[in-house]
Amino acid sequence: MELSKKALKIKPSSTMAISSKAAELKAAGKDIVAFGAGEPDFHTPAHISKAGIEAIETGNTRYTPAAGTPALRQAVCQKLKRDNGVEYQPEQIIISNGAKHSLINTFMAILNEGDEVIIPAPFWLSYSEMVKIADGVPVIIRTKKENGFMLTKAELEEAYTEKTKAIVLTSPSNPTGMVIPKEDLEMIAEFAVSHDLFVIADEIYEKLIYEEDKKHISIASLGKEIYDRTIIINGVSKSYAMTGWRIGFAAAPLEVAKLMASLQSHMASNPNTIAQAATVVALNGPQDCVTEMCKEFKKRRDYIYEREEDIPLLQALKPEGAFYLFVDVSAVYGKSYEGESIQSAADFARILLDKKYVAVVPCADFGMPDYIRLSYATSMELIEKGMDRIEEMIKALQ
Ligand code: PMP
Ligand code: GLU
Repeated sequence: MELSKKALKIKPSSTMAISSKAAELKAAGKDIVAFGAGEPDFHTPAHISKAGIEAIETGNTRYTPAAGTPALRQAVCQKLKRDNGVEYQPEQIIISNGAKHSLINTFMAILNEGDEVIIPAPFWLSYSEMVKIADGVPVIIRTKKENGFMLTKAELEEAYTEKTKAIVLTSPSNPTGMVIPKEDLEMIAEFAVSHDLFVIADEIYEKLIYEEDKKHISIASLGKEIYDRTIIINGVSKSYAMTGWRIGFAAAPLEVAKLMASLQSHMASNPNTIAQAATVVALNGPQDCVTEMCKEFKKRRDYIYEREEDIPLLQALKPEGAFYLFVDVSAVYGKSYEGESIQSAADFARILLDKKYVAVVPCADFGMPDYIRLSYATSMELIEKGMDRIEEMIKALQ
C-alpha cells in the first residue's frame, strides 16, 4: 500500500539515532563516550522533582486545558517579563510536549503550502524537517565562519522571495554555541518588519551563556512591531535538566497562539499534567540550580575547547553558550585510520565510533557537511577520556 509521500520525505532525527546507537553499544558492554545528543547529565533539581511527586500524591493527575494549566501559563508570563522584558498575557502562551512540539505547532499554525522559511545554517536539524511536515519549504542560508556564523543582511536579501514567511533564529545556537548580538537582532528585526515576516526565536539555551559580555536578548523585546510578529520558543529541558519531563512553551501573537492551542487540542491534548506542576516550581522557584549547572558547563566548555585547540587538524570557534563544540574536520579528508579512508565528516564520525567508541554528530543534517558536533553535557571525566581518544585517532592518521 502507498504510504504518505510527505512522511517518506522526512529524515529521522540523526541526533536521536546517534544517542540510541551509543546507548545500545553501552548496553552491550562497550566503553562508550557519548558526545552525541545534547542532554544535560545532571539530575532534575530535587525541589522540582518533589513538585512532580506531590502532584502524583495529591491526585493532580487529570487532563488540564489543552494549552496548559493557568498556573503554568501565568508562570511563563512572569518568567518572560522577569528574564526577557516582554509582556505576555496567559492566552498568548501555549505549553507543549517539549520545545520540539512548540516548534511544530508554530510551523503548522503559520505556514501554507509552499511558504518558505529562512533557516540560517548551521541549524538544529529538526527545523527543516518540521517545516516540511507543515508543507513549507526550508530555505537554507549557509552562514560563514568568518562572520562567527552570523547572518548578514546581504544573505537575507538574497534568500528572500515573495514566498518567504518566516525566519528561524537560535541563540545561543545549537550547534555553534554562538550568541546573536543586539545589532544583528536589530538588523533582522528591521528586515522582518519591512518584509512582513514572522520570526521564530528559539531561546531554549538562553540560560547557558559563559561570557560576561554576551547577554541573551529576546528579539521580541526590541519594539512593538517585532513583538507582534515573533514567536518565542523556550522550555525547561536544557536549563533545568528536565529533558524527560517534556515541557516546552511558545509565546506568540494572540491569533497564532489560538491556532496553536486549537491544533494541539486535537493532536496531543495537554502536555503531561505532573510535568506541568513541576515546571511551575522550576520557573517560580529558586534559580541557583540553573546558575550552578551553568558554572559547571562553563568549566567543561573551557576544557573541551582548550583540548580541541591543541589537537592538530581540528578547527573550532570558542562557543559562547549552549553545550556544543562545532568542529571543522575537513583538514583530515584524504587521510586514513587503520586502513579506512576518511572523505567526509560522516566517515570521521563513523570511524571514531567504531574504533574509538566516541559518539559525535556529523553535521550534514545541520546544513554544514564538513563539521562534527560534540555535546559537552557530560562529565569532565568523560570529556577528558573522549578528547584523549580523538587526539589518539588524529595523531595516528596516515
Ligand atoms: N530547540 C533546540 C535548538 C534544541 O537543541 C532542542 C533540543 N532538543 C529543542 C529545541 C527541543 O527541546 P525539547 O523538545 O527537549 O524541549
Ligand atoms: N536537541 C538535542 C540535540 O540537538 C537533543 C536531541 C534532539 O532533540 O535533536 O542533540
